[in-house]
Amino acid sequence: GDTHVLVTGGAGYIGSHACKQLARAGYVPVTFDNLSTGWASAVKFGPMVQGDLLDRAALDAVFAQYKPVAVMHFAALSQVGEAAHDPGRYWRNNLGGSLNLVEAMVAAECLHMVFSSTCATYGDQDGVVLDEDTPQRPLNAYGASKLAVEGVLRDFEVSHGLKSVIFRYFNVAGADPDAEIGEWHQPETHLIPVMIEAAAGTRPALTIHGDDYPTHDGTCIRDYVHVMDLIDAHLRGLEWLRAGRGSHVFNLGTGTGFSVAEVIRNCVASIGRDVPRNFGPRRHGDAAALVSGSQRASEALGWVAQRSTLDLMIADAWRWYKTGGYSG
Ligand code: UDP
Repeated sequence: GDTHVLVTGGAGYIGSHACKQLARAGYVPVTFDNLSTGWASAVKFGPMVQGDLLDRAALDAVFAQYKPVAVMHFAALSQVGEAAHDPGRYWRNNLGGSLNLVEAMVAAECLHMVFSSTCATYGDQDGVVLDEDTPQRPLNAYGASKLAVEGVLRDFEVSHGLKSVIFRYFNVAGADPDAEIGEWHQPETHLIPVMIEAAAGTRPALTIHGDDYPTHDGTCIRDYVHVMDLIDAHLRGLEWLRAGRGSHVFNLGTGTGFSVAEVIRNCVASIGRDVPRNFGPRRHGDAAALVSGSQRASEALGWVAQRSTLDLMIADAWRWYKTGGYSG
């Protein structure tokens, strides 16, 4: 019969790409999503259950119906700026929702999870290239709530044998090269899609959040990873768990950082359009630089980033943007 994988947040940006690749790999992705930021029309590769992680009965029902062999847990609130204004919402959804989910997994004897964590758990580290052993000191409620879930997963392994592969994402960008799905937030806050809106003229300008950071040009440095590469790592993580290889933590970065100003220059060069821009204040909770090597993921999982150049990420995001995105 069908081998189901439960994908929380499957209607969102990264989760929808996971569904596409799971389906290609022969799994049936079952999306569980409250549609607070996701889109029903992004769910094209398997069934969709509309529900909230805070609703334990809804979770129990989905496990009973589909008997998934594993969970990919993407559903979360993920905006650093918003987390600063409403930390309670971040803690409730990200920690409370994840706690319900792992308890439902244990009850259903589904003991494999691939979890979306974040480089925001590291906080500011004085420009060093991070690895998985770098001490985690989050600067905002987003990073802190994700770090707390990592702790929950460690405890649930000890007490209940729940095995997890934790991926700490750096900055995810780009879209499905077929432009069947892509990144679509309303309102958009992430650098590359905001830049594309400014280049397309659907927003007046991009505001650069701070130019007085201790970096070579004063703007923040991030390590951008193509969403297709990121999902490739998830499929490898799933196989790792199903092969019984135990819990593990991996950073997903490329080892190369780009400043906000460099990303904008690259956009102008790759799509041949100007990006109207201005400078604003720093965004609360932003680290100056977040860059990671990928040695552990490449050695253990055989993961090699294939599309994670700024050119390809911007070109794929631009191609997707021109399709007009989602509505409902
Ligand atoms: N950024 C910016 N203007 C924007 C959006 C983002 O200057 O309109 C900066 C942001 O301050 C950060 C970087 O771009 O330094 C990446 O931000 P994004 O929100 O894309 O991802 P995050 O690093 O928060 O996960």
